[in-house]
Amino acid sequence: MASLPTHVRIVEVGPRDGLQNEARVLDVDDRLELLSRLADAGIRDIEAGAFVSPTRVPAMAGSAELMRRLVRRTDVRYACLVPNETGLDRALEAGCREIAIFTAVSETFSRRNTACSIGESLQRLAAVSRRADAEGLRVRGYLSCVIGCPYEGPVAGRAVADMTEQLIGMGCYEVSLGDTTGIGTPADIERLIEIVTTRVPVDRLAGHFHDTWGMGVANVWAALQCGVTVFDASVGGLGGCPFAPGASGNVATEDLVYMLNGAGIDTGIDIARLIDTARWVCGRLDRPAASKVTLAWRACARA
Ligand code: MG
Repeated sequence: MASLPTHVRIVEVGPRDGLQNEARVLDVDDRLELLSRLADAGIRDIEAGAFVSPTRVPAMAGSAELMRRLVRRTDVRYACLVPNETGLDRALEAGCREIAIFTAVSETFSRRNTACSIGESLQRLAAVSRRADAEGLRVRGYLSCVIGCPYEGPVAGRAVADMTEQLIGMGCYEVSLGDTTGIGTPADIERLIEIVTTRVPVDRLAGHFHDTWGMGVANVWAALQCGVTVFDASVGGLGGCPFAPGASGNVATEDLVYMLNGAGIDTGIDIARLIDTARWVCGRLDRPAASKVTLAWRACARA
């Protein structure tokens, strides 16, 4: 076995990436309770909301109120997704200290998702991150479709490496590589990280994998072998795939923690409390948990 890290940092994206792809919209009270339960379970990085159009993304309406009412724990970092300078203004007004910016490797995906070309998107993000930096905010980058695009098919690893380097150059402390359609297999992930790390140090990368094809946890394991130690995950496996109705969403945080616990890798997360939270939020959303670990969990289970 390749040498494994002793600690992995998990970025919980359920309150944003998860909720925005669910059929039911949670109110701000429920979203605040979710944030508090996640922090109590030991999660230290949480993507809490998004300053996007409430018409396009109804689940993220009220993010300003959420961030104003949030009782911030000093040991937890809360981030919000920001698409443009208007979003940045709103994030600053609401007291955000960290933002996430996003773009895609595929031209068609970029045009459909953000209504602009990749080049225009990078210009827009450069302006956002310049201002964010001047305001002392931390900026995290997301790159979508790093393995495949629902419109264009397979994506070239060199294009991913090039865009990752540009996002780091803009001032992102970390770039999260998103397999948005969940189509990648562990071999794809290894090949991709090999290419990207010819341009960007591995400690600036995070893995953002989806379970659409059941590969989420296996892909995390592959990335771990390549030296990646930061992973995005969503409690309960919240968030379907917008291109595959009814499909699983982000890799479930509890599935990831269970796997890492099995390898003796510390995450600082209490899996029993996390599973309670997964059950609670799935109840609020009136849907079953997508996580196998949550479905299998019993008091006597290995933790
Ligand atoms: Mg996702």
